[in-house]
Amino acid sequence: MPGFELFGKQEKEEVQKVLDTGVLMRYGFDGLRDGQWKAKELEKALEERMDVRHAQLVSSGTAALTVALASAGVGAGDEVLMPTFTFVASFESILALGAVPVLVGIDDTLTLDPEAVEKAITKNTKVVMPVHMCGSMADLNALKAICQKHDLLLLEDACQAIGGTYEGKPLGSYGDLGCFSFDYVKTITCGEGGAVITNNDSYYKNADHYSDHGHDHEGLDRGAETHPFLGYNYRISELHAAVGLAQIARLDDFLAIQKKNYSILRTALEAIPEVTFRRVPVGGEESYAFLSFFLPDATLAKKTHTALGANGVDACFYWYDNNWHYFRQWEHLLEKKSLGKLSPEIYRQCPDYGTIDFSKSDHWMGRTISCLIKLGWTEEVVLQRAATMAETIRSIV
Ligand SMILES: *Cc1c(COP(=O)(O)O)cnc(C)c1O
Repeated sequence: MPGFELFGKQEKEEVQKVLDTGVLMRYGFDGLRDGQWKAKELEKALEERMDVRHAQLVSSGTAALTVALASAGVGAGDEVLMPTFTFVASFESILALGAVPVLVGIDDTLTLDPEAVEKAITKNTKVVMPVHMCGSMADLNALKAICQKHDLLLLEDACQAIGGTYEGKPLGSYGDLGCFSFDYVKTITCGEGGAVITNNDSYYKNADHYSDHGHDHEGLDRGAETHPFLGYNYRISELHAAVGLAQIARLDDFLAIQKKNYSILRTALEAIPEVTFRRVPVGGEESYAFLSFFLPDATLAKKTHTALGANGVDACFYWYDNNWHYFRQWEHLLEKKSLGKLSPEIYRQCPDYGTIDFSKSDHWMGRTISCLIKLGWTEEVVLQRAATMAETIRSIV
């Protein structure tokens, strides 16, 4: 996945152009910037590549989720349905707005289980937030039908699956809003950065204003602009946007490398009858950022994960025990350990997770191992890795 592996000449050249002007901010300074508008250019490139009307760059993927929710009017007491398997950014963005994160179980897609989503809907539910973890997507067709039936927003977190598609559409462009992260370890990187994409004109306008202190961006005098509503600062800098501009031009090359490497590893593991693979919903194509597979049970999965590490197969994850990606270790959320008081709605409406049955999530997560697909591997390295993985797994199952 990580685009930083192939950081090179193109990225340096784009950054140098910004350094030559000295204008590091994305807004204003029109006379000084010598025609360099890296953030605007990257937004245009994203709109074209993701086939959407609008892209709004921001400072991180977490900021993108926050801005996306805010742009659609999500606020105190609104409930957002999010998966038990994701990155902590999902609930951070929801809590930042005073809204209520409601954890919902996953299925063998390793993303939101549509049946569980439907059961979790209350009169306060406003958004369904699927997270396309590890390069593959949620069952977007089923989720969209639920959203239409209950008048809810569909917000796709495509931070780990940029370049994947569903029914021919780029992930992130299928729902009402989509989010990307360009942090240092994502498929393409800005160093730090993120983006919101949408076909909705008013959400876009709101995102544009909200991410820059409410600035309406009308006219040529920044100080004279008005602030139609409260905002915040989630701006990206021109230096970060410049790195992303070079990287997005390379996205399709990166995806081709991921697919090639993934396919070699998958073919090797497919020969082992005890190994099965995460389900990709019909109509979807992965970004191939990770290869995720199931062992017959949790004990074997844990053993396999340990043995892979011992045999030098790095970058494989056993998410079930992970501090950052699976709800079992999120005691800071479950016990609401915040520095200051949270909004009263959060205390009132957050479900008591001790009483909710997530055995289906545990069933799938407990058996899952995900291996990162790197861009910098040579074919020789991938073939060796495939052989070592297959041998290691066979020695255990
Ligand atoms: C990385 C990531 C984010 C947050 O992105 P940052 O840019 O690191 O804030 C959100 N969701 C998922 C699924 C991620 O992997």
